[in-house]
Amino acid sequence: MSRQTLFVDVIVPVPMRQTFTYRVPLDMNDKVAPGKRVVVAFGKKRNYTGLIRRVHENPPEVYKAKYIDAVLDESPIVYDWQFAFWEWMAHYYMCGIGEVMNAAIPSGLKLNSEQYLVRHPDSEVNYDELNDKEYLIAEAIEIQQRIKLDDVQAILGIKTIQPIVKSLIDKRVVVMEDELRARYKPKFETFVHLNSRYENEADLNDLLDQLQSNNRSVKQLEVLLAFLHFKEQVAPQRVVKRELLEFSGGSSSSLNTLIKKDVLVLEEDVVNRIQDMDNELNMIKALSEAQEKAKNEIKEGFDDNKPVLLHGVTSSGKTEIYVSLIQEVIDKGEQVLFMIPEIALTTQLIRRLQNYFGDRIGIFHSKFGQNERVEVWQRSMSEGDDRFDILVGARSSLFLPFRNLGLIIIDEEHENTFKQYDPAPRYHARDAAMVLAHEHQANVLMGTATPSIESYWLAEEGKYHLVEINKRYGDVKMPEILCADLKKEQREKTMHSHFSSFLVKQIEEAIEAKEQIILFQNRRGYTPMWVCNECGWVPQCVRCDVSLTYHKQAHLLNCHYCGYAIHPPRKCDGCGSTELEMKGFGTEKIEDEIKVIFPNISVSRLDLDTTRSKHSYQRIIESFSNREIDVLIGTQMVSKGLDFDNVSLVGVLSADQMLNYPDFRSFERAYQLMSQVAGRAGRNKKRGKVIIQTYQPDHWIIQQVIDSNYKKMYQQELFERKNFSYPPFFRMIQFTVKHRDKEMARRNAELLASKLTEVFKNRILGPQDPMVARVNNLYIKQIILKLERELSNKKVRNIIWDILKDLESDKDFKSSRIMIDVDPT
Ligand code: ADP
Ligand code: ZN
Ligand code: ZN
Repeated sequence: MSRQTLFVDVIVPVPMRQTFTYRVPLDMNDKVAPGKRVVVAFGKKRNYTGLIRRVHENPPEVYKAKYIDAVLDESPIVYDWQFAFWEWMAHYYMCGIGEVMNAAIPSGLKLNSEQYLVRHPDSEVNYDELNDKEYLIAEAIEIQQRIKLDDVQAILGIKTIQPIVKSLIDKRVVVMEDELRARYKPKFETFVHLNSRYENEADLNDLLDQLQSNNRSVKQLEVLLAFLHFKEQVAPQRVVKRELLEFSGGSSSSLNTLIKKDVLVLEEDVVNRIQDMDNELNMIKALSEAQEKAKNEIKEGFDDNKPVLLHGVTSSGKTEIYVSLIQEVIDKGEQVLFMIPEIALTTQLIRRLQNYFGDRIGIFHSKFGQNERVEVWQRSMSEGDDRFDILVGARSSLFLPFRNLGLIIIDEEHENTFKQYDPAPRYHARDAAMVLAHEHQANVLMGTATPSIESYWLAEEGKYHLVEINKRYGDVKMPEILCADLKKEQREKTMHSHFSSFLVKQIEEAIEAKEQIILFQNRRGYTPMWVCNECGWVPQCVRCDVSLTYHKQAHLLNCHYCGYAIHPPRKCDGCGSTELEMKGFGTEKIEDEIKVIFPNISVSRLDLDTTRSKHSYQRIIESFSNREIDVLIGTQMVSKGLDFDNVSLVGVLSADQMLNYPDFRSFERAYQLMSQVAGRAGRNKKRGKVIIQTYQPDHWIIQQVIDSNYKKMYQQELFERKNFSYPPFFRMIQFTVKHRDKEMARRNAELLASKLTEVFKNRILGPQDPMVARVNNLYIKQIILKLERELSNKKVRNIIWDILKDLESDKDFKSSRIMIDVDPT
């Protein structure tokens, strides 16, 4: 054991910008190393799990170092290069290194003292194997069901409990509660079977007749039919009770009656968490000439050490190009990071990749349980055969501990879900990926049919290498895009509520031809607003400055910002009138209307409300893809990367809602959304059709969607951006000031704005109210800083930190919450 006095700099999970220095007890000298977790006291609290950043011999100058309490790891869980990446992120996005660490490390590795411990569901504890302290905890959990880590400390009467907790977890005596919720609960499901007595068709028919003949058993008949349908169409292997009830909309009491009658049988069983994959892997497709050419150009860009922007129209075969490149990279023994906007919405794509690469793929998903995430983390850095070669994930996959990263693919690079809003770090995964790639000398490939203005501009400036594919794979034609002129139809009174007769006619034809239809309405709920016909009053959220949205199925008015919900009022709050009218329309309303216009077709809806349960998204997509659904109505969820071969018609219900949104990116977004959703049409032999309903058929954005003319849209938009000093010509930093008190919010925002203006002059805009100026009872003001691209990032940030530090002495100012958002989207 060395007798040296060592110190460690520790990253503590708090929103502070610096690390903190602790002293190492002599007996831990051999255990400390950068990247290992340690338990330290910080502020008033003990028991933070931090990470060792550095080991050195220099005591801190201004304070007396406390001792670290324990070292948790045998070997580092974070690589050195990750620290450099985190530090870049904390600096660029102006947040604390501890906040970056929090975002980066799966919470399963954190052991936070607010968490609860519960009994391991599969625990077969042999109490003889536990030492006294472990025994005490195990016993306490048997009695109390769950205990907080803080209380463990009290029970044991010692401060450093993490090693004991870790040992209990390793021995499978306890688990962290959030992990239990995420992982172990769904492990047991109740399945529903048909009693084998009725497997014979004649007997089954007898039973159905019998139920039908009695008025009192109609409900049971409905549930039984739903069961049979569900089993046949949706879940041939096993029917999960919960899903069946959800699917049939039936009550559990009818189901229970059928169970009492021994028609249906329940069975509790273990389910596999990750669905079994087909064992047979698919052969990688031979690329077409156009794809081959694009692939070679991509590699030229790599040779040139430039990130590559692949601009390929929808269905041009980008995914197959990725696959071919991935194969080459993993053949060299390097890893690939494949970033996608959202896991839940890209199951089709993930399945495709799994069919090619099987279990060499690790999927990093925030909805997965902690153990699974920790497993992906460990297998990403593993040196053995179990190492994942391909890591697929949304933005946070960027933080995985790669061993030998060769390529980063960013699919749908224009998607704004790559940007994290809350909490800090508010990073953009696409931009951060450039830095990550640089550290690994890895290549970057961004793919999209509708590049972000920024990326396309960087390509034009020569910073990115641009590769374009203008044709769909197999020479499938781009869809024909037409407008339905709502002004004209309204004048001529040919509208069927929100449907133009033009769109109705196209739907008719598609149904006639047994083709499928997607309808896009970028708003969920039934109608956005209830409006008083007399005085214009609209029910508002009590906690936010926003009107409530009506949800018909739940019969509630909901706040989409904070979740507040009330029953719809019968009378106007303003004038007492009972003449309340619904204005505007969401997906739920569209669903109702189409069922009235076309009563005999099968309609389904894909939005946040219909996809809350775990597999519902998957189920809807599968039934649509099996052609059990004729019309799929959805929010932007239907615009994302779906590949159905029988969709011949896409309808955009209201282009105007998108165009009129007050944001400098709204035109760019509207173009992207409409083009993406249009791209779902006619991905097969027959040319697809897209109908855009709008009051402004001559709007230039709509014209360019119709012409599929990205370039022209880009040039015009770029001109506007330049004129009004927006990105990509200027960088933006947005400051948000929040306060419970309205006046304080105003005062503090003005104070900050005036300090910033002293330095940045007219680059400062505001303070101003955001679109929703109060959320969850906090008043919000925003200040925007626009910076010329040439200005030094470092200088700007230092100035801002100095200003904020100065303002700390102002007690009132300190009472408000300040958020900094670099490159807001
Ligand atoms: P994108 O990612 O550009 O939207 P996809 O890769 O999904 O395009 O390709 C569109 C369709 O064409 C898919 O159904 C895909 O299977 C098919 N496809 C693309 N490239 C090939 C190829 N080289 N051989 C066979 N089929 C292909
Ligand atoms: Zn609210
Ligand atoms: Zn009124």
